[in-house]
Amino acid sequence: MTSKLKAGVVTGKDYLTLVAACKAGHYALPAVNVTGTNTVNAVLEAAAQNRADVIIQLSNGGAEFYAGKGFPDSANAKILGAVAAAHHVHLLAQYYGVCVVLHTDHANKKLIPWVEGMLTHGEEYHKQYGRPLFSSHMIDLSEEPLDENIAESARLLKRMNAINMSIEIELGCTGGEEDGVGSDDIDNARLYTQPEDVLKAYDVLSKLGHFSIAASFGNVHGVYAPGNVKLRPDILKNSQELVKKAKGLGENPLDLVFHGGSGSEKAKIEESLQYGVFKMNIDTDTQFAFAHGVGKYVKENETAFFHQIDPQTEKPYKKQYDPRTWLRVGEKEMIARLSEAFADLKSSGKTIAG
Ligand SMILES: [Zn+2]
Repeated sequence: MTSKLKAGVVTGKDYLTLVAACKAGHYALPAVNVTGTNTVNAVLEAAAQNRADVIIQLSNGGAEFYAGKGFPDSANAKILGAVAAAHHVHLLAQYYGVCVVLHTDHANKKLIPWVEGMLTHGEEYHKQYGRPLFSSHMIDLSEEPLDENIAESARLLKRMNAINMSIEIELGCTGGEEDGVGSDDIDNARLYTQPEDVLKAYDVLSKLGHFSIAASFGNVHGVYAPGNVKLRPDILKNSQELVKKAKGLGENPLDLVFHGGSGSEKAKIEESLQYGVFKMNIDTDTQFAFAHGVGKYVKENETAFFHQIDPQTEKPYKKQYDPRTWLRVGEKEMIARLSEAFADLKSSGKTIAG
């Protein structure tokens, strides 16, 4: 029986309780990329409606957008936007009655200063409130040599662990636009995480704190024509088995993350839940849902977007062009798409908040 947690942002020991509940129940939480209050609130509303716990996540670009594209210093906007979003979630999440994990997305070598900037704010916050600002940050050094990836992740995990934070690392590399999907080297070993690499990372990081692993098993960012890449959840199973055997641990010792979940075959998503996946990132599909809602609304109310008053009937269109009206339509479609994600990941009705 999983112990109940207080609704709101979960960090530290409570985050580990939530991860353990997901793995024991063979379900996962969607980690939804957000860019502003509309998307944050849509995620919270969707989680509440589905009685599901959820992960709210910011990419560096999403964080920058949150602070404002006109913010005078782009590097600082990435830090402060993430901090502002975290404060927004800390203040509001508890009222939605579910557990919310606060996370950030890919940070390659160039973006390590972004993570360190957020950590400085996180340490300040921890001093004041006794808990971190974020539950976990992701570091993605999968483009670097393995030893460098592990050493730098270890350095940052030490700093995060001191304020009860977790780290997510990447081993192998997720395909996507920037990684040349569409070329023929689909069987490129880099697209599939090597279990030996996972064991190496486990040896170093398990002594320093809590970590999760974004493992590559043919997953790509974005949605592409079917047949481009073959998802192989057995890759996840092989890593779990190797670490389990080498370390004498129980079933599924690793906490795994599924990147590039948008557009993936539902059966493969379901299979991955058997192999310790507790988090699935979703961005492309929720972006499209939001845009689809707004697009449909604009099409159906076209005149209102070009005339404040109808040129023929003189009817005022204030209600239609009020951003609250059409942004709300976007939020609603995003919520509907997230309900589908909760169902795919078997997390509907599974909140451990009580
Ligand atoms: Zn990713």
